[in-house]
Amino acid sequence: MSLLVVGTVAFDAIETPFGKTDKIVGGAASYISLSASYFTKEIGIVSVVGDDFDENFKSLLTSKGIDLGGLQVKKGEKSFFWKGKYHTDLNSRDTLDTQLNVLEKFDPVVPENFKNAEFLMLGNLVPAIQQKVITQMNKRPKLLVLDTMNFWLDIALEELKKTIAMVDVLTINDAEARQLSGEYSLVKAAQKILEMGPKVLIIKKGEHGALLFNKEQVFFAPALPLEEVFDPTGAGDTFAGGFIGYLAQTKDISFENMKRAIIYGSAMASFCVEKFGTQKIENLTQEEVDERIQEFVDLVQFDIALV
Ligand code: AMP
Repeated sequence: MSLLVVGTVAFDAIETPFGKTDKIVGGAASYISLSASYFTKEIGIVSVVGDDFDENFKSLLTSKGIDLGGLQVKKGEKSFFWKGKYHTDLNSRDTLDTQLNVLEKFDPVVPENFKNAEFLMLGNLVPAIQQKVITQMNKRPKLLVLDTMNFWLDIALEELKKTIAMVDVLTINDAEARQLSGEYSLVKAAQKILEMGPKVLIIKKGEHGALLFNKEQVFFAPALPLEEVFDPTGAGDTFAGGFIGYLAQTKDISFENMKRAIIYGSAMASFCVEKFGTQKIENLTQEEVDERIQEFVDLVQFDIALV
């Protein structure tokens, strides 16, 4: 197994200035694994759904080579449900409803064939459950990446700090970095968060790109200026999937390669926001992905001759 992905597999209801959906498929692990599947095969998911979950979506994931052996299905129970509404600038949103449902009593079991995964992506989920997955691995994966959200910062901060201390890379958005560190300056916030355990921190800034920090260096990846942005839901997860998928493909976890990986993550996220839910990232071609990467290269490449 190359990549193990943990996170919600869920139903979402989304409202943006461009439209509204009732109950569509979402969840952190869904976006992450779909996005990563463009870079690496041998992906497994550990998560839980109720028996109300969409069979067609499960078949879609399987058709992408994603192993659902670690996806528990709870009879008579409901899948995790999240409802969010975006503000007019699409950079911020309000969570209108979070129903944990099956997550409330979820006890993750990592299947034997996932326990030697080289890369572990801990997507947005209950922090104590993320820890339970780490401790079930046979050996420490080559790289552990953690993503989380203000919801867990608000209600499970101490558990979340324990999970943060166990990982190599943390990805959060700018508001969450400020909340976690108590610092307004993102540079100071990064320094404080890197003291909490991770060697690398990624701060996502929506349409303003993403920052990659380690203790000595910082690198910036822009977001592609897009004509049409319909729905930012899952952009952070899709970013994380592209990031870890590229690292799993290249097997190089140096800071230099992580710079390339955040460009891949940003490219995948730029697709995600163009349609509602997972729609756009379900069926991309390799050519489309390559062209998007080239657009990023063209966007930021310039020569300066200092005299
Ligand atoms: P993103 O837009 O990248 O932050 O991810 C949105 C996805 O996260 C949605 O598909 C939701 O189902 C999922 N989600 C929302 N709230 C939570 C939560 N508290 N824990 C885990 N997943 C969540």
